[in-house]
Amino acid sequence: MYPRLIVDLKKLKGNLDAVAEITKDRGNCSLMIVTKGLCAEKKLVEMIAAHEKVDFIADSRVKNIANFSAVAREKGKKTVLLRIPMHSEVSEVVKHVDLCFNSEMSTIRLLNSEAKRFGKVQDILMMIDLGDLREGFFFQNEELIMDAVAEIIEMDHINLYGIGVNLTCYGAIIPKKDNLSQLVEIGRRIEEKFNISLNMVSGGNSSSIYLIDKGELPEGINNLRLGESFLLGNDTAYETKLPNTVDDALILRAQIVELKEKPSLPIGEVGVDAFGEKPYYEDRGVMKRAIIAVGKQDTDLGSMTPCDERIEIMGGSSDHIILDMTGTGDDYQVGDLVDFTLGYGGMLKVATSPYVEKEFI
Ligand SMILES: *Cc1c(COP(=O)(O)O)cnc(C)c1O
Repeated sequence: MYPRLIVDLKKLKGNLDAVAEITKDRGNCSLMIVTKGLCAEKKLVEMIAAHEKVDFIADSRVKNIANFSAVAREKGKKTVLLRIPMHSEVSEVVKHVDLCFNSEMSTIRLLNSEAKRFGKVQDILMMIDLGDLREGFFFQNEELIMDAVAEIIEMDHINLYGIGVNLTCYGAIIPKKDNLSQLVEIGRRIEEKFNISLNMVSGGNSSSIYLIDKGELPEGINNLRLGESFLLGNDTAYETKLPNTVDDALILRAQIVELKEKPSLPIGEVGVDAFGEKPYYEDRGVMKRAIIAVGKQDTDLGSMTPCDERIEIMGGSSDHIILDMTGTGDDYQVGDLVDFTLGYGGMLKVATSPYVEKEFI
């Protein structure tokens, strides 16, 4: 059945080898691999868990972690919850999550009492916001950070495992030597003031990996969390390709349900499309147009690229995508399949859509 997402586990293993070499061997960082881009699919997690260089397996959803915690722990990998937890999920967190990211004292207090009930000490990573303005204690308010640490280290069932930052997500701020050095500095001051040592200073996601080969990852950053760079081979700071990775480990395959020559300009008064937007059309004369049976319910049109370079995506609606096939001559017929590589948004929707079949090769 189509549409289908084809996941090439050998290629992903190659990407994992490549980012592991950069991060661990050249960057002296521990390696946290992030599975949320592919909904923590079982076969993917098994491959990651079997990789000797992976230290942590992380996801943003407790539900995904609950599914893979046994597999991960069996292979000696710690499970990590990236999204700061909801109050309503703390009991699930203490069950399945070895390391949990946090930025709110009320939640940490709840975790403390839940961990007590469960009979464990919960490791937490304190998120510091260096200006991207998503989660974290704001870096300029050091008094607040120190007050929080003072309270956390008094908790019997919470262990402050380290601190971390997330960048290039909401505010698109690029990690650099100077902002990451501020994180290292905050860590040092916490260690001095409270006479403790932090296991982890986590320097960000796939937008931080480029710093290693530039020699600009500050000393003291000892962990990176990688999702997109491993799944798609992207350095997400400057949108370059990472060495020895491929961008076609994930392929979306869809079937042609109509193939006809039609004009490129719609006929009649132009209103708004199915999504309330006013479309723009370019007159290219008579075109060969294909409809494939996949749409905005399944994917993100701006985040997929036809593998056949002669094909162009014209647009689409919930269940249809229209392709310009003019350059392909007589190579395609109704019933034929068209392949696409995916960007991050496309991958996320494809992985999440129940209408897209998943195949692991
Ligand atoms: C999603 C996420 C990551 C991984 O991001 P990539 O850009 O896919 O590497 C890392 N850390 C946090 C907190 C995240 O939410």
